[in-house]
Parts: sequence; C-alpha cells; structure tokens
Amino acid sequence: MTSAPSAPRKPLLPLDDALAQLLAAVVPLTATELVSTFDADGRVLAADVVSSLQVPAFDNSSMDGYAVHAEDLLRGSHELRVTQRIAAGSVGEHLQAGTAARIFTGAPVPPGADAVVMQEDCTPIHDERHGQPETIRVNTTPLPGQYIRHAGEDVQRGDCVLPAGTRLGPAELGLAASIGMAHLEVVRKPRVALFSTGDELVMPGAVAPQDMPPGAIYNSNRFFLLNLLRRMGCEVADLGIVPDNRSATIAALQGAAADNDVILTSGGVSVGEEDHIKPAVQSLGTLDLWQIAIKPGKPFAHGRIGAAHFIGLPGNPVSSYVTFLLLVRPFLLRLQGVQDLAMKSMAVRADFDWPKADKRREFLRVCRNANGGLDLFNNQSSGVLTSAVWGDGVVDVPPGQPILYGQTVQYIPFSELLR
Ligand code: AMP
Ligand code: MG
Repeated sequence: MTSAPSAPRKPLLPLDDALAQLLAAVVPLTATELVSTFDADGRVLAADVVSSLQVPAFDNSSMDGYAVHAEDLLRGSHELRVTQRIAAGSVGEHLQAGTAARIFTGAPVPPGADAVVMQEDCTPIHDERHGQPETIRVNTTPLPGQYIRHAGEDVQRGDCVLPAGTRLGPAELGLAASIGMAHLEVVRKPRVALFSTGDELVMPGAVAPQDMPPGAIYNSNRFFLLNLLRRMGCEVADLGIVPDNRSATIAALQGAAADNDVILTSGGVSVGEEDHIKPAVQSLGTLDLWQIAIKPGKPFAHGRIGAAHFIGLPGNPVSSYVTFLLLVRPFLLRLQGVQDLAMKSMAVRADFDWPKADKRREFLRVCRNANGGLDLFNNQSSGVLTSAVWGDGVVDVPPGQPILYGQTVQYIPFSELLR
C-alpha cells in the first residue's frame, strides 16, 4: 500500500526576499517635529542640516604653549620675549617679529603668528614675578602651521553636515551643536502597539517564582520588544498580554489599529489551533504568513489592518529577538526615512566547529574571544535567551554550509543591530 502524496510544501522564503517585501510595503512617515538637539538621540533627521559657519571658526591652538612666527626661530637667537597672553575665549593682537604670545588650547592664533610651540619645548628664562618681562628659550625649530587647527578644517560654510534620513546618535548631536543647532527637525515617532499572546504568560511581579502555576512562564518577550522599539525611536502603546482566543485577539487588534502605525505581536503565528493571530488578522484585514528560511526565526507575519501595519513575531524568545533585529528594525528605520539599512558584517575566525549545517540560513550566537576569534554558545536553542546575553553577536551561516574550526566566517556584532 502506498500513502497518498502529501500537498507540496511551500518553499521557505529567503531572508533577503522577506526583507525586500517588507520594505516595499513601507510608506515613510512624512510628519515632522522640531525637537531640542538634547532630545534627538535615536531620531531620524527630516531635513538636511547645513552649516552657516565654518568650524573651527578661526585658526586656533591645539596646545598650551607659545604662538610664534616660525621664521624668527630659523635664524639667530632662540630667545623670544612674551608680549601677550591669549586664553581660550579671548583674542590677541598682531604678533610683532621676534616676540611670542603665551597661548592656550582653543585660543585664536594671533595674526602674525604661524606656529605654536608646546610649552614642554620651551624654557622660561625670566619670570614676570621677578619684575622682568617674561622671556622664553625655544628648544625646537617649529614647522610653519604646527599645532594650529585651521579655520574650516572640520566644516566649511554651506556644507551639509548631516543629510535628511540620518539616524541621530550622540556624535551627530555634537556635530549639529558645533554648528549652532539648538533644535533639529526630525520625523515624528512611529506609534507602535505591542502585545504578547499566550495563556501561559505571567508578568514578573504578578506571581512570585515559587508560586508559579504549572505550565506558566514569565513573559520575557514583552521586556525586550518594548525596549527595542524605544531604541528604534518609537512611541510604544504597551497593550500587555492577549489571551489565546479569537475574540480577545480580534478586539485587541481592532483597538490597536485605530491609532497606531504598527501593531507588533509575539507568539501565536504558527498554525496550531491555539495560534489565533492568523484568523484574527485575516478577519480584520490582510495577512501574509511567511516561513522564512532562517534559524532561529521561521514563522513571521506581515499584514495590514486599516492603515496600520501588522507584524507578528514568533513566540520563542530568541526567534522573536533575532527576527526583530533582522526584519523589524530595518522596517521601523525605513518607516522613519532611513535609506542605508545594510547590516555590516565582518570576517572573523571561528574558534569552533559547526558540523551539522541547517538547510536554513543560521544566526549562531557567538562571543569574540581574547585571541581575535569567535566562541560559540553551547546551546543554540531558540528558547535559550541566555545565548543572546552571553553572546556579543551572531555568525551569519549560509544555508547548508558547515563551519570548520579556524575558518573565516561573517560575524555581525549585536552593537550593529541594536543601534
Ligand atoms: P507560540 O509562537 O505562541 O507557539 O510560542 C512559541 C514558544 O514561545 C512557546 O514555548 C511559548 O510559551 C513561548 N513564548 C511565547 N510568547 C512568549 C513570551 N512573551 N515570553 C516568553 N516566551 C514566550
Ligand atoms: Mg502561543
């Protein structure tokens, strides 16, 4: 007796195709707001930031020392009378030939001077405290231009220092401040509704560990998803836990769709009877349920409910975490107008074997070791969150390719995916 042929399985979707489809569905937000530069960390610029001045604004000293005319020290005596003192924030006078100006870091180099000699290279000969004009001996032959930071060497007037679409971090905020920007025009925050599905979930604090009922687990996804969303510049409506039933799921989705750009859920996207996300979203809008060819990960859903995007992540914590980093993060950044979404990987040596390659592209949790190689976490299960804490990144393993000890692999640091 032969068994009936089973229906052909839908092929798994490669990650790059899933990401391309997801990004193709994004219409970037157009509303903007003006925020204090202090508060713009993590936000995305809505307009070019163009400098109306040059930085540095004037030639200034990069050392504590003496401003000199280099040529004076090429011939004759190396002794110079100190005729003026220029601290940062003050302005000197024209430097007369054969004299020096005491100068401090950041102070404008006076006209007539073309080099700074650091104080360590000078010996004071007379000292004002003894009633004589200060004189110094210069123990070096300065090169013209030395220890001078030139006007405009950082930014020229008219330069676009930060183009629209730039994701702002601390360095960008400092640069914006250096050209006088107290406020920045940024894309409004995406509004994201977050909920976890699962009757087994209990909130930490609601039940003490020793009192957990059989079968219950703490809701961990809610904690990392909420904070990942905040890091991505989103305003989060945290809707808590939705029980595993159709009507509760529909009610939660309907409420969330009304005033959010995105609804993000974790769990319930498989196709068991206790997975209510698919029918609930389909009853309110449209849904694509993908089986993505990645590990951890695999089930992932994208759809629409009214104007809102729906994104359903797998429930297993590491799958949820990794699919957020690989798919939701670029989605949310593109929604805010970021163009460059490439994840930068680097070639690093694997100090481990991975003989049993999976058919899916795999993201192994690893940690850089002191010898410049990568160590593998000993449990790569999609439920083991310890791997994401122990690890400082993932190795991007192509489908079906085992790794031999010492082989060079592509490593993506978590720092690259959490920015
Ligand atoms: P599901 O995708 O709903 O079938 O869930 C897959 C696995 O992930 C199950 O073992 C769930 O108990 C677990 N899980 C789902 N949601 C969460 C959550 N919010 N926190 C921790 N574990 C979860
Ligand atoms: Mg579930």
